[in-house]
Amino acid sequence: MTRNERITVVGGGIGGMTAATALAQAGFPVTLLEAAPVFGEIGAGVTLSPNAMKGLDHIGVCEKVAAAGVEPSRQRVQHWQDGRTLVTMERTGQREKYGAPYVYIHRADLHRILVEAARAAGVDLQTNAAAARTEGTSVILHDGRRIEGDVLVGADGLKSVVRQRFEAVQAHFTGHVAWRALAPVEGALADLASFPGIHIGPGRMITRYPVRGGSLLNMVFFARQPGWTEDGWSLPATPEDLAATYEGWCEDAQAMIRAAATGPIFKWAINARKPLSDWNLEGRITLLGDAAHAMTPFLGHGAACAIEDAVVLSRALAASDTPEAGLRRYVAARHERTTFIQAESNANADRMQGQDSDLFGLGTMRDEESIGLFDYDCRTVAI
Ligand SMILES: Cc1cc2nc3c(=O)[nH]c(=O)nc-3n(C[C@H](O)[C@H](O)[C@H](O)COP(=O)(O)OP(=O)(O)OC[C@H]3O[C@@H](n4cnc5c(N)ncnc54)[C@H](O)[C@@H]3O)c2cc1C
Repeated sequence: MTRNERITVVGGGIGGMTAATALAQAGFPVTLLEAAPVFGEIGAGVTLSPNAMKGLDHIGVCEKVAAAGVEPSRQRVQHWQDGRTLVTMERTGQREKYGAPYVYIHRADLHRILVEAARAAGVDLQTNAAAARTEGTSVILHDGRRIEGDVLVGADGLKSVVRQRFEAVQAHFTGHVAWRALAPVEGALADLASFPGIHIGPGRMITRYPVRGGSLLNMVFFARQPGWTEDGWSLPATPEDLAATYEGWCEDAQAMIRAAATGPIFKWAINARKPLSDWNLEGRITLLGDAAHAMTPFLGHGAACAIEDAVVLSRALAASDTPEAGLRRYVAARHERTTFIQAESNANADRMQGQDSDLFGLGTMRDEESIGLFDYDCRTVAI
């Protein structure tokens, strides 16, 4: 593509910010439109496996992100009733094995680094710029402004406006809900932070890991609760709600519930998307991240996929003579992998939340590392 074709990225989350930076670094004029009045992310952690960190290396922020995060040496899966360790995963030597570290980070810390990188790359960053609809490759904002561009990238998450051009379907509720909380690492949380992991039980699980130099513990409590009927996707919740859901769980779980109760608790509906057959519309419009393939979080790979998409999209456009050819190469390189991860993420929920937790890990282990996700390198994958 000629480098003067203007690219509009709708959405300034992890995916949109990475894409805008990579495209600007490749020489394209890029405008990023974010609905929120200020750039930011929710108060929660995110796991960045080595494949995600390779994408961040492509835009030059891998070591900054690693320095702001925590690199675990091991993780474990534990039994819900007695906290017994069922499986241990070694996480030392990830850099040597995969070419990039494995990192836990607070989302706000990651996002701040991404915004700095986008600014340094010369992206035209616009907040208070909520897309109401799109026409061709133009975006019409809620305040009536019209933003013109030559290529349109929808990185606007689960409720994507750009995706409406591909199908008039909303994201669906998956039957899973999550409560998210952060608490200072003290008392009973110290051991849990030093050896992070997941407690699994029938229809439920609790993930925990340290962020902010190990000073905060990120906790996510998952449960299957079919029939979400409330209007919103996130609701204030009470400690009693959480305690009732995990009644009979081990002392570790109770300690995390007590810690979560010291701050506000929110309950989230986990929504997802069915795979689209194509993300190339009219050779000029495309999607990435949750807008393209929102998945359940049971392999911790939604943000990783958004980062990989962003890097491959920028490489494909930069390497092609026309946007049409670039988008075809992008979809060809990415669609199969993200569809596979969407399916595996659902299967992993079934494996981890089965009726008999004692059976977990017997036989061949299937997790994000053993199914080969860490090997992928979006910097060099064929496009
Ligand atoms: C409980 C839970 C835990 C998770 N843990 C992990 C994990 O450990 N590792 C991992 O890799 N993934 C994880 N994920 C998935 C990950 O959070 C998402 O896949 C990722 O944040 C998607 O990024 P995105 O940039 O595509 O979309 P989003 O983060 O949703 O960003 C979209 C952006 O677009 C903006 N926007 C929306 N509509 C408009 C509009 N009309 N106009 C302009 N801007 C708009 C939004 O304000 C937002 O800034 C988890 C998800 C959940 C629910």
